[in-house]
Amino acid sequence: MSAYRFVGARRRLIETIRAQGIEDLEILRLFDDIPRHLFLPEGVWNRAYQDHPLPIGYGQTASQPSLQALFLQVLRPGPDDQVLEIGTGSGFYTALLAASAGRVYSVERIRELSIRARRALDDLEIRNVALLVGDGSIGWRKYAPFHVISVAAASPGVPSALVDQLAAGGRLLLPVGTLEEQELVLVTRNQTGEVREERALDRCTFVPLLGQYGWKEEPGEE
Ligand code: SAH
Repeated sequence: MSAYRFVGARRRLIETIRAQGIEDLEILRLFDDIPRHLFLPEGVWNRAYQDHPLPIGYGQTASQPSLQALFLQVLRPGPDDQVLEIGTGSGFYTALLAASAGRVYSVERIRELSIRARRALDDLEIRNVALLVGDGSIGWRKYAPFHVISVAAASPGVPSALVDQLAAGGRLLLPVGTLEEQELVLVTRNQTGEVREERALDRCTFVPLLGQYGWKEEPGEE
């Protein structure tokens, strides 16, 4: 079955991620268990296990695997956690979250990407994921609060709607900055409800978060 292709390349990717300082075996094992190529257009399968962002159509990219491993290391989703993901994209990181968490709620603004991600998740029989097409910058109030909120698109600031939907003890990680460059910001809410912000990584570049609490969409854009 095509899920078992590229096994050697997958092992090399895991070594690359480990070389970046991600030592947690449970996180590394996820990259062995979940075949990234099945979430990508066939035209880029030959690059699926390189540690690079890759085009997935509609002007969007699948994030760099080592950065996704870092997200998991910082966010530490656990089996009892409800997770909100903003920017389903290819659905690969959705699958990583689904393997670590109780339930994953993932929002994507581009319908075609959400449909494709659903197909890949179904093919791998990943069942604990709910997908929504819409503006994720406002969160997903119906299922709030969330223990973990993970944002894969760059925001001009920390969306207050997402902080509002963070459970006590919860962690929110997102790239904040300009359209060209961002830093990763970790927002935590402690058991007494206090919210703290700290920087988790200096420099990174993500596609823009477009929406109410993100960058405003240009009229006429898809
Ligand atoms: N983790 C994904 C990353 C995809 S790139 C992957 O590895 O495939 C980020 C995604 O965020 C894009 O698909 C983009 O369409 C989506 N996005 C941007 N703004 C959004 C918003 N306001 N709500 C939901 N999704 C958004």
